[in-house]
Amino acid sequence: MSPLTKRVLRDTVGLSKRYVLVSLIAGISSAIYPLISIYISRRIIDMLAQSMAYTELLRFILLGLGAVFIAQIISGLFNYVHQFEQAEFHQRLELARNKKSIDMAFGYAEDPATKDLRHKITIIGYGGTPSFEMIAYSIKDLVSYVVSVIGAAWLILPAFFYRTETVYDSPIFFVVFIGLLLLFAYLPHRYNQRQNDKMNQLFQEVHSANTTFNYLADMVFNPEAGKEIRLYRQQPKINRWFAANTDPNGSAVRWMRELTWSMGKLSLISFSTNQVVILFLYLLVGFKGIAGGLPLGHIVAATAALNVLISVLSELITHLSVMGSDSSGVQLHYDYMDLPNQTQVGSIPVEKRLDNDYQLSAKGISFSYPGTDRPVLKDISVDFSVGKSYAIVGENGSGKTTFIKLLTRLYDPDQGEVTLNDIAANKYDAHQYYSLFNVVFQDFDLFSFKLGETIATDQSYDQAKVLQALSEVGFRDRFDQLPKGLDTSLNKEFDSEGITLSGGEKQKLALARAIYNDGPIYVLDEPTAALDPISEFEIYQKFHQITRGKTSLIISHRLSSCRFSDEILVFDHGRIVQRGSHEELVAVAGKYAELWNAQAKHYQAEAIDLSRLGLTEATSA
Ligand code: ADP
Repeated sequence: MSPLTKRVLRDTVGLSKRYVLVSLIAGISSAIYPLISIYISRRIIDMLAQSMAYTELLRFILLGLGAVFIAQIISGLFNYVHQFEQAEFHQRLELARNKKSIDMAFGYAEDPATKDLRHKITIIGYGGTPSFEMIAYSIKDLVSYVVSVIGAAWLILPAFFYRTETVYDSPIFFVVFIGLLLLFAYLPHRYNQRQNDKMNQLFQEVHSANTTFNYLADMVFNPEAGKEIRLYRQQPKINRWFAANTDPNGSAVRWMRELTWSMGKLSLISFSTNQVVILFLYLLVGFKGIAGGLPLGHIVAATAALNVLISVLSELITHLSVMGSDSSGVQLHYDYMDLPNQTQVGSIPVEKRLDNDYQLSAKGISFSYPGTDRPVLKDISVDFSVGKSYAIVGENGSGKTTFIKLLTRLYDPDQGEVTLNDIAANKYDAHQYYSLFNVVFQDFDLFSFKLGETIATDQSYDQAKVLQALSEVGFRDRFDQLPKGLDTSLNKEFDSEGITLSGGEKQKLALARAIYNDGPIYVLDEPTAALDPISEFEIYQKFHQITRGKTSLIISHRLSSCRFSDEILVFDHGRIVQRGSHEELVAVAGKYAELWNAQAKHYQAEAIDLSRLGLTEATSA
């Protein structure tokens, strides 16, 4: 058995011992009852031939039928239970894979190759090369085949070894029989293997078409894309794209055709070769019976058992060869499951401190995204003083969000290190480290759960604290209109009465979630981009109070809001090119003044009430 197969079997037992046990019982019992009936027939015929007493015969028949009946009931029952156990096992396997999807280091989660791998695993589970599930699901059949082969051999062998003192007792017949049997079981298996290789090749073609097809299928269901599709009148183009990718090169059709054709050919080959073995045994036992008195019961049992044997032998060889080789389908499963988790590195607990004295620093960090060699951050060093507020500004693509991803440990730097209280961030227990940050990302996601659970990111939560957070972000008026209050579902995925929120309202909730988390460090990436200027101004003012005593980092394009910050870090092409307060930076020529002047002009042109936005000084200057 190959190491990979052993691992599959170990993990199958690990996922569900009950499934394995039920598979064993179902497999054994479904193989045993046809064998018992053949054995009983043999004994009855032999008893009849020996003119056994009727009472004796009747007792045996009743006992025999009882045994077959019980074996059949056990087999029926366990095969029935097996179906449910297999369904539950499948769920557990999917859960294990889904758990991996959320535990893996973020770099892998963001990598399209990982998504592609996950998708391949799902597809391969339904056919193609042997997969993890195919091996796990074949336990019952494998056990059943082994029992059938042993039982059938036990019923056939007496016909060979019964002494008739004729030429037919010669061991040559037995050797020829075994030779024919193995050859004819092996041939369909070989053919099957060659077909499988061909199928795999075709499967790869079908898979690449599926990737595009799935992208399109996701897109047409996505309400965001729905707007663009309609307004940019993309329907005909998408339909054409769909048609072109439904089955480019006709791979899927070819796959199906090949599959049906090869199944047909396989049946024909098996049927013809099996007839040769059957004919051989029939002739042998026939002659042995006529010439040497081989009992009729032996003849009947051997021929009936041969049918059982040939129906499973080829399958058994195929199963054993699958188990003996490392299948690429199984490898895919482990390629995915073995991706490193973020939590696998680091175990130091984060010290609980009431004084919030968590000193976060970047020490000479440089970073390129995996699979690229373009440095996105170059030698950045900053010590964030506890309790101070920082604004991070810079043009699009200057590396601000990436810097946040490194500080929050979604990625590790290529050079340098992020430290917390002078210890490298990745030495800490990842979950405890994450909990320090109250984060709102630019592309944040709110789950379609109930409002209260979403804010608290937990099913049990402190209602008063959630309401306080909602008030602080200016969502209280909207909240008061919701009949179900904190039990209101967000979006309509799980609840047709769920609410659909505007971009600004969603952003308020994302902020409320960060406030509820109440960690010592706020990290806000464009936290107000979707808010109207008045709400934005109000929130920034409130933030001053909310983040008091805590360290806060805010990325913002609205430079007016940066004026509230103690220090501004100006990013340009992956470096920090300027640092200082608003007053200091605006007074010197440089990137910040350039950005500031461009924005101030824009506000003037828009004739916005600058006094309410705290911009009057600068524009009048
Ligand atoms: P900013 O937040 O300043 O707009 P980002 O940090 O988002 O900039 O991006 C910096 C650079 O990194 C950009 O050129 C962007 O294209 C690239 N980038 C961002 N995310 C990824 C990613 N997951 N993989 C590869 N490159 C990325």
